[in-house]
Amino acid sequence: MTQAPIGLITSAASERLLENRKEEQVKTPFGTATVLLGTIAQRSAAVILRYGPNLTVPSHKIDYRSNIWALRELGVESIISQNAIGSVNPAIRPGDIVISDDFLDRTRARPQSLFDGSDCWVRVDFTDPFCPRLRADLIAAAKAHSERVIERGVFVCTEGPRFETPAEIRAFQREGGDIVGTPMVPEVVFAREAEMCFASIAPVINFGAGMAPAVVHFGPGSMNDTYYRGGLHDLIERTLIAAIGSVSPDRTCNCGNALAGGFHGTPPEWSRKHISLFR
Ligand SMILES: [Zn+2]
Repeated sequence: MTQAPIGLITSAASERLLENRKEEQVKTPFGTATVLLGTIAQRSAAVILRYGPNLTVPSHKIDYRSNIWALRELGVESIISQNAIGSVNPAIRPGDIVISDDFLDRTRARPQSLFDGSDCWVRVDFTDPFCPRLRADLIAAAKAHSERVIERGVFVCTEGPRFETPAEIRAFQREGGDIVGTPMVPEVVFAREAEMCFASIAPVINFGAGMAPAVVHFGPGSMNDTYYRGGLHDLIERTLIAAIGSVSPDRTCNCGNALAGGFHGTPPEWSRKHISLFR
């Protein structure tokens, strides 16, 4: 199999998607990441369970740099990010699937760049915040399985682990936010800095604070119930299988040259193998 593996970062227990699964510990300049390798839809795939195999790593403790660079080390060029999220927009309801086209970064205490600590300055362009080619693949795959696909949306990424307040949700509404979740930034930033394609598929599992009586993650009637017992998990897995099988190996987008015009200084040694500008 010569095609680059497709990367998948999920919040759910999606390891069962992989055939011929094996676990690999990938050392990076930032730390060691656990990656599950195998095939999905007969494509080579590399899967990261961002919350850990037992869902014990909250969003603010994820080693985002290691996760993204480990995928790059494994040859991944395209990353699909699965994010179960809340709705900020009353027109977007639990059960809908959002393929975001923009985001607002409301995180506060996360690494800002893969290149922090290096003798350089990186300013990548985010005019197209998500890869348009990969978004189109995700939209087509999702629409083949659901009539509730929303093709655009502004993803508000918050720090967590607490949920938002009603005032914060109202502020996000005024700012143009549509959905809210915690782990998507800085994955999207580091993927762009590593010149990888990145897009998010986000099943909606709750309304934001103040739009419903309460926001509950675990237990009866919770967001987890909506996702796992409401059929969304199975729907998203079918969509992911179809999307991964349909990702074109031809990168017709600009993601593979993201650092051109956005880099100044001396590239760190660890980056020279994988960044096109430094080869
Ligand atoms: Zn791209």
